[in-house]
Amino acid sequence: MSSNEGTGVTIATRDIDAAVTRIIGRIEGPVPGPVLVCVAGMHGNEPAGVEALTRVLDTLTVEGYRIEGTFVALRGNQAAIAKHVRFIDSDLNRHWTRERLGRVTLDREPDPAVSEDADLLELHDVISEILDQAIGESYLIDVHTTSGRSAPFGTVGDTLRNRRFAMQLPLPLIMGLEEHLEGTMLEFFNDQGHVTLGLEGGQHEDASSVDRIEAAVWLALEAAGMLPDSRAATRLADARTFLARLSRNLPRVLEVRHRHFVGPNDRFAMRPGYASFQGVTANEHVADDECGSVTAPETGLILMPLYQPAGDDGFFITREFSPFWLSVSALLRRLHVDNVLPWMPGITRDPSHGGTLLVNGRVARWFALEVFHLLGYRKRRQMGDVLVVTRRREGGKAVRR
Ligand SMILES: [Zn+2]
Repeated sequence: MSSNEGTGVTIATRDIDAAVTRIIGRIEGPVPGPVLVCVAGMHGNEPAGVEALTRVLDTLTVEGYRIEGTFVALRGNQAAIAKHVRFIDSDLNRHWTRERLGRVTLDREPDPAVSEDADLLELHDVISEILDQAIGESYLIDVHTTSGRSAPFGTVGDTLRNRRFAMQLPLPLIMGLEEHLEGTMLEFFNDQGHVTLGLEGGQHEDASSVDRIEAAVWLALEAAGMLPDSRAATRLADARTFLARLSRNLPRVLEVRHRHFVGPNDRFAMRPGYASFQGVTANEHVADDECGSVTAPETGLILMPLYQPAGDDGFFITREFSPFWLSVSALLRRLHVDNVLPWMPGITRDPSHGGTLLVNGRVARWFALEVFHLLGYRKRRQMGDVLVVTRRREGGKAVRR
Protein backbone atom coordinates (compact mmCIF):
# COMPACT_ATOMS: atom_id res chain seq x y z
CA MET A 1 0.00 0.00 0.00
CA SER A 2 1.49 3.35 -0.97
CA SER A 3 0.35 6.80 -0.03
CA ASN A 4 0.34 9.58 -2.59
CA GLU A 5 1.65 12.48 -0.48
CA GLY A 6 -0.09 15.82 -0.73
CA THR A 7 -3.21 14.61 -2.55
CA GLY A 8 -4.71 12.49 0.18
CA VAL A 9 -5.17 9.64 -2.29
CA THR A 10 -4.20 6.18 -1.19
CA ILE A 11 -3.65 3.55 -3.81
CA ALA A 12 -4.13 0.16 -2.28
CA THR A 13 -4.00 -2.24 -5.19
CA ARG A 14 -3.20 -1.91 -8.84
CA ASP A 15 -3.11 -4.96 -11.07
CA ILE A 16 -1.41 -4.59 -14.42
CA ASP A 17 -1.22 -8.30 -15.12
CA ALA A 18 -3.11 -10.17 -17.84
CA ALA A 19 -6.79 -10.91 -17.53
CA VAL A 20 -6.42 -13.46 -14.76
CA THR A 21 -6.83 -11.61 -11.49
CA ARG A 22 -10.07 -10.43 -9.96
CA ILE A 23 -9.14 -6.90 -8.96
CA ILE A 24 -8.32 -4.47 -11.77
CA GLY A 25 -7.61 -1.77 -9.22
CA ARG A 26 -8.72 -0.14 -6.01
CA ILE A 27 -8.40 3.46 -4.88
CA GLU A 28 -9.27 4.70 -1.43
CA GLY A 29 -9.69 8.24 -0.27
CA PRO A 30 -8.20 9.44 3.03
CA VAL A 31 -11.49 8.94 4.91
CA PRO A 32 -14.21 6.29 4.55
CA GLY A 33 -17.26 7.35 2.55
CA PRO A 34 -19.41 6.09 -0.31
CA VAL A 35 -18.29 3.03 -2.25
CA LEU A 36 -18.46 2.51 -6.01
CA VAL A 37 -17.74 -0.97 -7.36
CA CYS A 38 -17.55 -1.47 -11.14
CA VAL A 39 -17.52 -4.96 -12.66
CA ALA A 40 -16.36 -5.48 -16.25
CA GLY A 41 -16.00 -8.66 -18.26
CA MET A 42 -19.04 -10.36 -16.76
CA HIS A 43 -19.13 -11.62 -20.34
CA GLY A 44 -15.61 -12.54 -21.44
CA ASN A 45 -15.99 -11.29 -25.01
CA GLU A 46 -16.56 -7.71 -23.80
CA PRO A 47 -13.07 -6.32 -23.11
CA ALA A 48 -13.95 -2.62 -23.52
CA GLY A 49 -15.09 -2.30 -19.91
CA VAL A 50 -11.83 -3.64 -18.48
CA GLU A 51 -9.86 -1.25 -20.70
CA ALA A 52 -12.03 1.73 -19.73
CA LEU A 53 -11.78 1.01 -15.99
CA THR A 54 -8.02 0.61 -16.31
CA ARG A 55 -7.85 4.06 -17.92
CA VAL A 56 -9.90 5.67 -15.15
CA LEU A 57 -7.69 4.07 -12.48
CA ASP A 58 -4.54 5.17 -14.32
CA THR A 59 -5.76 8.75 -14.59
CA LEU A 60 -6.84 8.87 -10.94
CA THR A 61 -3.39 7.63 -9.99
CA VAL A 62 -1.34 9.85 -12.33
CA GLU A 63 -3.34 13.03 -11.77
CA GLY A 64 -3.64 12.31 -8.06
CA TYR A 65 -7.25 13.48 -7.80
CA ARG A 66 -8.62 13.49 -4.29
CA ILE A 67 -11.49 11.04 -3.99
CA GLU A 68 -13.93 10.47 -1.16
CA GLY A 69 -14.70 6.90 -0.22
CA THR A 70 -13.58 3.83 -2.15
CA PHE A 71 -13.53 3.01 -5.87
CA VAL A 72 -12.94 -0.60 -6.88
CA ALA A 73 -12.86 -2.14 -10.38
CA LEU A 74 -13.25 -5.90 -10.76
CA ARG A 75 -13.15 -8.50 -13.52
CA GLY A 76 -16.21 -10.73 -13.91
CA ASN A 77 -15.78 -14.04 -15.70
CA GLN A 78 -12.01 -14.51 -15.51
CA ALA A 79 -11.67 -17.73 -17.50
CA ALA A 80 -13.97 -16.39 -20.23
CA ILE A 81 -12.01 -13.11 -20.40
CA ALA A 82 -8.78 -15.06 -20.90
CA LYS A 83 -10.39 -17.01 -23.77
CA HIS A 84 -12.30 -14.04 -25.14
CA VAL A 85 -15.64 -15.90 -25.08
CA ARG A 86 -18.98 -14.87 -23.56
CA PHE A 87 -18.84 -17.71 -21.02
CA ILE A 88 -17.20 -21.11 -20.47
CA ASP A 89 -20.09 -23.32 -19.31
CA SER A 90 -23.00 -20.96 -18.72
CA ASP A 91 -23.78 -17.24 -18.53
CA LEU A 92 -22.35 -15.84 -15.27
CA ASN A 93 -24.93 -13.06 -15.37
CA ARG A 94 -27.76 -15.60 -14.99
CA HIS A 95 -26.20 -17.36 -12.00
CA TRP A 96 -27.33 -14.97 -9.27
CA THR A 97 -30.50 -16.82 -8.27
CA ARG A 98 -31.42 -17.43 -4.63
CA GLU A 99 -31.12 -21.20 -5.11
CA ARG A 100 -27.69 -21.23 -6.71
CA LEU A 101 -26.25 -18.54 -4.45
CA GLY A 102 -27.70 -20.24 -1.40
CA ARG A 103 -25.98 -23.48 -2.32
CA VAL A 104 -22.65 -21.96 -3.36
CA THR A 105 -22.31 -19.59 -0.41
CA LEU A 106 -23.41 -22.23 2.08
CA ASP A 107 -21.33 -25.15 0.80
CA ARG A 108 -18.34 -22.95 -0.09
CA GLU A 109 -17.65 -25.59 -2.74
CA PRO A 110 -18.36 -24.41 -6.25
CA ASP A 111 -19.48 -27.04 -8.75
CA PRO A 112 -16.27 -28.02 -10.63
CA ALA A 113 -18.36 -28.93 -13.68
CA VAL A 114 -19.50 -25.32 -14.08
CA SER A 115 -16.59 -22.89 -14.50
CA GLU A 116 -18.77 -19.90 -13.57
CA ASP A 117 -19.65 -21.25 -10.10
CA ALA A 118 -16.22 -20.31 -8.71
CA ASP A 119 -16.54 -16.79 -10.14
CA LEU A 120 -19.98 -16.51 -8.60
CA LEU A 121 -18.74 -17.34 -5.12
CA GLU A 122 -15.66 -15.13 -5.28
CA LEU A 123 -17.48 -12.16 -6.81
CA HIS A 124 -20.28 -12.50 -4.28
CA ASP A 125 -17.82 -12.45 -1.37
CA VAL A 126 -15.58 -9.67 -2.71
CA ILE A 127 -18.39 -7.34 -3.77
CA SER A 128 -20.43 -7.88 -0.60
CA GLU A 129 -17.44 -7.12 1.59
CA ILE A 130 -16.54 -3.93 -0.26
CA LEU A 131 -20.11 -2.58 -0.54
CA ASP A 132 -20.80 -3.23 3.11
CA GLN A 133 -17.86 -1.00 4.07
CA ALA A 134 -19.65 2.07 2.67
CA ILE A 135 -20.36 4.95 4.97
CA GLY A 136 -23.42 6.37 3.25
CA GLU A 137 -24.47 5.08 -0.13
CA SER A 138 -23.03 2.02 -1.91
CA TYR A 139 -23.10 1.78 -5.71
CA LEU A 140 -22.55 -1.15 -8.06
CA ILE A 141 -22.15 -0.77 -11.83
CA ASP A 142 -22.03 -3.72 -14.23
CA VAL A 143 -20.31 -2.76 -17.49
CA HIS A 144 -21.23 -4.45 -20.78
CA THR A 145 -21.06 -4.05 -24.55
CA THR A 146 -23.36 -5.44 -27.25
CA SER A 147 -22.92 -7.53 -30.39
CA GLY A 148 -24.90 -5.07 -32.51
CA ARG A 149 -24.28 -1.35 -33.03
CA SER A 150 -25.62 0.81 -30.23
CA ALA A 151 -25.51 4.22 -28.63
CA PRO A 152 -24.40 3.92 -25.00
CA PHE A 153 -27.23 3.50 -22.49
CA GLY A 154 -27.96 2.60 -18.87
CA THR A 155 -30.29 -0.03 -17.42
CA VAL A 156 -31.96 0.35 -14.02
CA GLY A 157 -34.12 -1.72 -11.73
CA ASP A 158 -36.84 0.85 -11.13
CA THR A 159 -36.36 2.14 -7.60
CA LEU A 160 -36.27 5.84 -6.81
CA ARG A 161 -32.68 5.58 -5.53
CA ASN A 162 -31.50 3.86 -8.71
CA ARG A 163 -33.28 6.46 -10.81
CA ARG A 164 -31.77 9.34 -8.87
CA PHE A 165 -28.24 8.00 -9.43
CA ALA A 166 -28.71 7.00 -13.07
CA MET A 167 -30.45 10.22 -14.11
CA GLN A 168 -27.26 12.13 -13.35
CA LEU A 169 -25.63 10.46 -16.35
CA PRO A 170 -26.65 11.88 -19.75
CA LEU A 171 -27.63 8.48 -21.17
CA PRO A 172 -30.91 6.92 -22.24
CA LEU A 173 -32.16 4.72 -19.39
CA ILE A 174 -33.88 1.40 -19.88
CA MET A 175 -36.30 0.28 -17.19
CA GLY A 176 -37.79 -3.17 -16.78
CA LEU A 177 -35.03 -5.22 -18.38
CA GLU A 178 -34.54 -7.21 -15.17
CA GLU A 179 -38.15 -8.40 -15.34
CA HIS A 180 -37.18 -10.42 -18.41
CA LEU A 181 -33.88 -11.79 -17.06
CA GLU A 182 -33.56 -14.16 -14.10
CA GLY A 183 -30.42 -14.30 -12.00
CA THR A 184 -28.54 -11.11 -12.87
CA MET A 185 -25.86 -9.79 -10.51
CA LEU A 186 -27.42 -6.33 -10.33
CA GLU A 187 -30.83 -7.65 -9.34
CA PHE A 188 -29.23 -9.64 -6.52
CA PHE A 189 -27.31 -6.67 -5.09
CA ASN A 190 -30.23 -4.33 -5.64
CA ASP A 191 -32.31 -6.64 -3.43
CA GLN A 192 -29.54 -6.33 -0.82
CA GLY A 193 -30.23 -2.59 -0.69
CA HIS A 194 -27.41 -1.26 -2.87
CA VAL A 195 -27.84 1.26 -5.70
CA THR A 196 -27.23 -0.49 -9.02
CA LEU A 197 -26.78 0.49 -12.66
CA GLY A 198 -26.09 -1.48 -15.83
CA LEU A 199 -23.88 0.34 -18.30
CA GLU A 200 -23.84 -0.57 -22.00
CA GLY A 201 -21.02 1.09 -23.91
CA GLY A 202 -21.71 0.13 -27.54
CA GLN A 203 -20.47 -2.60 -29.84
CA HIS A 204 -17.89 -5.10 -28.52
CA GLU A 205 -15.18 -4.30 -31.08
CA ASP A 206 -15.85 -0.58 -31.46
CA ALA A 207 -12.90 1.36 -29.99
CA SER A 208 -15.21 4.21 -29.04
CA SER A 209 -17.05 1.88 -26.62
CA VAL A 210 -14.01 2.25 -24.34
CA ASP A 211 -14.24 6.07 -24.50
CA ARG A 212 -17.96 5.99 -23.74
CA ILE A 213 -17.61 3.67 -20.74
CA GLU A 214 -14.69 5.73 -19.44
CA ALA A 215 -16.77 8.93 -19.67
CA ALA A 216 -19.73 7.29 -17.93
CA VAL A 217 -17.55 5.99 -15.07
CA TRP A 218 -16.11 9.48 -14.46
CA LEU A 219 -19.65 10.84 -14.26
CA ALA A 220 -20.69 7.98 -11.98
CA LEU A 221 -17.86 8.88 -9.59
CA GLU A 222 -19.17 12.44 -9.60
CA ALA A 223 -22.81 11.32 -9.19
CA ALA A 224 -21.78 9.21 -6.19
CA GLY A 225 -20.25 12.32 -4.61
CA MET A 226 -16.80 10.76 -4.70
CA LEU A 227 -14.97 13.26 -6.87
CA PRO A 228 -15.09 16.69 -5.23
CA ASP A 229 -11.62 17.58 -6.57
CA SER A 230 -11.98 20.82 -8.57
CA ARG A 231 -9.07 19.79 -10.82
CA ALA A 232 -11.35 17.13 -12.31
CA ALA A 233 -13.96 19.69 -13.43
CA THR A 234 -12.81 19.96 -17.04
CA ARG A 235 -12.59 16.20 -17.44
CA LEU A 236 -16.13 15.79 -16.06
CA ALA A 237 -17.50 18.55 -18.31
CA ASP A 238 -15.91 16.92 -21.36
CA ALA A 239 -17.35 13.53 -20.41
CA ARG A 240 -20.81 15.05 -20.02
CA THR A 241 -20.66 16.82 -23.39
CA PHE A 242 -19.37 13.68 -25.11
CA LEU A 243 -22.16 11.40 -23.81
CA ALA A 244 -24.89 14.03 -24.18
CA ARG A 245 -24.00 14.41 -27.86
CA LEU A 246 -24.32 10.65 -28.44
CA SER A 247 -27.79 10.47 -26.89
CA ARG A 248 -29.02 13.78 -28.28
CA ASN A 249 -31.92 12.39 -30.34
CA LEU A 250 -32.87 9.50 -28.07
CA PRO A 251 -35.61 9.28 -25.41
CA ARG A 252 -34.46 9.91 -21.84
CA VAL A 253 -36.23 6.89 -20.33
CA LEU A 254 -37.56 3.79 -22.07
CA GLU A 255 -39.36 0.71 -20.83
CA VAL A 256 -38.94 -2.83 -22.11
CA ARG A 257 -42.13 -4.14 -23.71
CA HIS A 258 -40.96 -7.42 -25.18
CA ARG A 259 -38.05 -9.83 -25.16
CA HIS A 260 -37.50 -12.35 -27.94
CA PHE A 261 -36.12 -15.45 -26.24
CA VAL A 262 -33.73 -17.61 -28.27
CA GLY A 263 -33.53 -21.33 -27.48
CA PRO A 264 -30.29 -23.28 -28.08
CA ASN A 265 -31.64 -24.99 -31.23
CA ASP A 266 -33.54 -22.05 -32.69
CA ARG A 267 -30.91 -21.18 -35.32
CA PHE A 268 -31.82 -17.55 -34.70
CA ALA A 269 -30.37 -15.03 -37.16
CA MET A 270 -31.07 -11.34 -36.93
CA ARG A 271 -31.55 -9.71 -40.33
CA PRO A 272 -28.62 -7.39 -41.05
CA GLY A 273 -28.63 -3.67 -40.41
CA TYR A 274 -30.41 -3.31 -37.06
CA ALA A 275 -28.93 -1.17 -34.30
CA SER A 276 -30.21 -0.40 -30.80
CA PHE A 277 -32.80 2.40 -30.69
CA GLN A 278 -33.72 1.88 -34.34
CA GLY A 279 -37.48 2.18 -34.92
CA VAL A 280 -39.39 -0.97 -35.92
CA THR A 281 -43.07 -1.33 -36.74
CA ALA A 282 -45.45 -4.08 -35.62
CA ASN A 283 -45.08 -7.23 -37.76
CA GLU A 284 -41.80 -6.06 -39.27
CA HIS A 285 -39.67 -9.05 -40.35
CA VAL A 286 -36.57 -8.56 -38.18
CA ALA A 287 -35.03 -12.06 -37.92
CA ASP A 288 -35.32 -15.69 -38.98
CA ASP A 289 -35.18 -18.95 -37.05
CA GLU A 290 -36.13 -22.64 -37.19
CA CYS A 291 -39.81 -21.84 -37.61
CA GLY A 292 -39.46 -19.18 -40.29
CA SER A 293 -39.58 -15.43 -39.99
CA VAL A 294 -39.52 -13.61 -36.65
CA THR A 295 -41.50 -10.39 -36.55
CA ALA A 296 -41.67 -7.47 -34.12
CA PRO A 297 -44.79 -7.95 -31.96
CA GLU A 298 -45.37 -4.21 -31.67
CA THR A 299 -44.09 -0.86 -32.85
CA GLY A 300 -41.22 0.56 -30.84
CA LEU A 301 -37.45 0.92 -30.66
CA ILE A 302 -35.40 -2.25 -30.97
CA LEU A 303 -32.71 -2.86 -28.34
CA MET A 304 -29.69 -5.17 -28.34
CA PRO A 305 -30.32 -7.12 -31.57
CA LEU A 306 -28.24 -10.31 -31.31
CA TYR A 307 -25.41 -10.55 -33.83
CA GLN A 308 -23.31 -13.25 -32.12
CA PRO A 309 -23.88 -16.99 -31.72
CA ALA A 310 -23.93 -17.06 -27.90
CA GLY A 311 -26.76 -15.52 -25.89
CA ASP A 312 -30.46 -16.17 -25.45
CA ASP A 313 -31.84 -12.66 -25.94
CA GLY A 314 -32.65 -12.22 -29.64
CA PHE A 315 -33.76 -8.61 -29.28
CA PHE A 316 -35.90 -6.41 -27.06
CA ILE A 317 -38.64 -3.96 -28.04
CA THR A 318 -38.77 -0.78 -25.98
CA ARG A 319 -40.79 2.40 -26.00
CA GLU A 320 -40.42 5.81 -24.43
CA PHE A 321 -41.60 6.20 -20.86
CA SER A 322 -42.87 9.75 -20.53
CA PRO A 323 -41.40 12.11 -17.93
CA PHE A 324 -44.97 12.76 -16.78
CA TRP A 325 -45.52 9.15 -15.70
CA LEU A 326 -42.02 9.11 -14.20
CA SER A 327 -43.02 11.96 -11.87
CA VAL A 328 -46.43 10.43 -11.14
CA SER A 329 -44.88 7.13 -10.12
CA ALA A 330 -42.31 8.88 -7.88
CA LEU A 331 -45.14 10.74 -6.13
CA LEU A 332 -47.28 7.60 -5.70
CA ARG A 333 -44.36 5.77 -4.15
CA ARG A 334 -43.48 8.59 -1.77
CA LEU A 335 -47.13 8.62 -0.63
CA HIS A 336 -47.00 4.81 -0.18
CA VAL A 337 -50.20 4.46 -2.18
CA ASP A 338 -49.44 0.75 -2.52
CA ASN A 339 -50.40 0.27 1.16
CA VAL A 340 -54.05 0.17 0.06
CA LEU A 341 -53.47 -2.55 -2.54
CA PRO A 342 -54.11 -5.55 -0.22
CA TRP A 343 -57.53 -4.03 0.54
CA MET A 344 -58.53 -4.26 -3.13
CA PRO A 345 -60.65 -7.22 -4.29
CA GLY A 346 -58.55 -9.96 -5.85
CA ILE A 347 -55.26 -8.80 -4.29
CA THR A 348 -53.71 -10.55 -1.30
CA ARG A 349 -50.38 -10.21 0.43
CA ASP A 350 -48.16 -13.28 0.29
CA PRO A 351 -48.11 -14.37 3.96
CA SER A 352 -44.54 -15.69 3.63
CA HIS A 353 -43.13 -12.53 2.02
CA GLY A 354 -44.49 -9.10 2.95
CA GLY A 355 -43.28 -7.38 -0.21
CA THR A 356 -45.06 -9.81 -2.51
CA LEU A 357 -48.65 -9.52 -3.75
CA LEU A 358 -50.77 -12.21 -5.36
CA VAL A 359 -53.13 -10.71 -7.91
CA ASN A 360 -56.06 -12.83 -9.05
CA GLY A 361 -56.51 -11.82 -12.67
CA ARG A 362 -60.13 -12.98 -12.77
CA VAL A 363 -61.14 -10.70 -9.91
CA ALA A 364 -58.71 -7.81 -10.30
CA ARG A 365 -58.82 -7.82 -14.10
CA TRP A 366 -58.82 -4.02 -14.22
CA PHE A 367 -55.36 -4.01 -12.62
CA ALA A 368 -52.76 -3.98 -15.40
CA LEU A 369 -49.11 -4.82 -14.71
CA GLU A 370 -48.34 -1.20 -15.64
CA VAL A 371 -50.10 0.00 -12.47
CA PHE A 372 -47.86 -2.20 -10.34
CA HIS A 373 -44.82 -0.87 -12.22
CA LEU A 374 -45.82 2.68 -11.35
CA LEU A 375 -46.07 1.69 -7.70
CA GLY A 376 -42.59 0.14 -7.69
CA TYR A 377 -43.41 -3.55 -8.18
CA ARG A 378 -41.86 -6.00 -10.62
CA LYS A 379 -43.47 -9.07 -12.11
CA ARG A 380 -42.13 -12.31 -10.63
CA ARG A 381 -44.25 -14.85 -12.46
CA GLN A 382 -47.70 -15.74 -13.73
CA MET A 383 -49.27 -18.82 -12.12
CA GLY A 384 -52.48 -19.54 -14.03
CA ASP A 385 -54.79 -16.63 -13.24
CA VAL A 386 -52.53 -15.34 -10.49
CA LEU A 387 -49.93 -12.69 -11.17
CA VAL A 388 -47.12 -12.56 -8.61
CA VAL A 389 -45.51 -9.12 -8.13
CA THR A 390 -42.81 -8.07 -5.68
CA ARG A 391 -42.07 -4.61 -4.40
CA ARG A 392 -38.54 -3.56 -5.31
CA ARG A 393 -36.55 -2.81 -2.22
CA GLU A 394 -36.34 0.95 -1.84
CA GLY A 395 -34.68 1.37 1.58
CA GLY A 396 -30.93 1.33 2.14
CA LYS A 397 -28.88 -1.60 3.27
CA ALA A 398 -28.37 -2.44 6.90
CA VAL A 399 -25.27 -0.38 7.68
CA ARG A 400 -22.53 -2.06 9.67
CA ARG A 401 -20.15 0.24 11.42
ZN1 LIG B 1 -22.59 -8.46 -21.56
